[in-house]
Amino acid sequence: MDELEKLKKRRNAIILAHNYQRPEIQDVADFVGDSLALAMKARQTDADVIVFCGVDFMAQSAKIINPDKIVLFPDETAKCPMAAMVDVDALLYWKKKYGYDIVSYINTTAEVKAISDICCTSANAVKVVKSMPNGVIFVPDENLGKYVKRFVDKDMILWPGFCPTHLGITKKDIIKLKEKHPNAEILAHPECTEEIIDIANEVASTEGMVKYAMKSSSEEFIVASEKDLCYRMKKEMPQKKFYAIENAVCPTMKKITLEKVIKSLEKMKPEIKISKEIIEKASIPLEKMLKIGRES
Ligand code: SF4
Repeated sequence: MDELEKLKKRRNAIILAHNYQRPEIQDVADFVGDSLALAMKARQTDADVIVFCGVDFMAQSAKIINPDKIVLFPDETAKCPMAAMVDVDALLYWKKKYGYDIVSYINTTAEVKAISDICCTSANAVKVVKSMPNGVIFVPDENLGKYVKRFVDKDMILWPGFCPTHLGITKKDIIKLKEKHPNAEILAHPECTEEIIDIANEVASTEGMVKYAMKSSSEEFIVASEKDLCYRMKKEMPQKKFYAIENAVCPTMKKITLEKVIKSLEKMKPEIKISKEIIEKASIPLEKMLKIGRES
């Protein structure tokens, strides 16, 4: 820990970590949050170096927003499988075929963002789609798209992508926990399947779930999302109980370790590199999204 603190000072670095990171990474981070909160934080920081503890598309977004800063990504192989499900050529073909604007979830590569009209996260997807003048092509998460469709009256063409971690959460998992803890409220991420969404008390982004649990008068919660979100929740609300889905683990998120964070600051690599052209194009939909902010 001492070594890390010294390195951070020497490099004028900030550590940003996603809510699904290992507990020890959450503990050393300067800021822990969801994709939207992390993107906002990346834009505000005056640090020279951002060490991004999350997955590829998040670190890329931090670089697109801060092209002049050094963004270190401690494990370059931490690539989100959902983001890898979009093919740029096929997406351009869809755009030509349907003539709709492309709304891309932040879980997309910089190249996909570069051909998108606007980005969104699970914290503002409904607000973003509502802001669009016509129908939209929504990529890549089909479950989030189906959830948004419940609130908007417009044509939405959904890309057949998914998050393996959230797709693996079953109604049976939730019912089992509910039987053990009948007073617990069910919180679900919109990347979950519709059968989970239908039985949830609250559907929200990870940050939204944290806020909901803070305000709720309930003392217990079943959290249908990645397991380590419960670590942050327990830390911030020790008086409440949070029940995680034990097998809901994102292996990609766990690739970042403390050793790799220290090594990246020592060696100042791996560093996120994106071409100037892609940064210029991808920053337009990202900035549009940041202006919209969270759902109210
Ligand atoms: S939890 Fe799902 S969407 Fe998030 S990084 Fe892991 S695979 Fe990608």
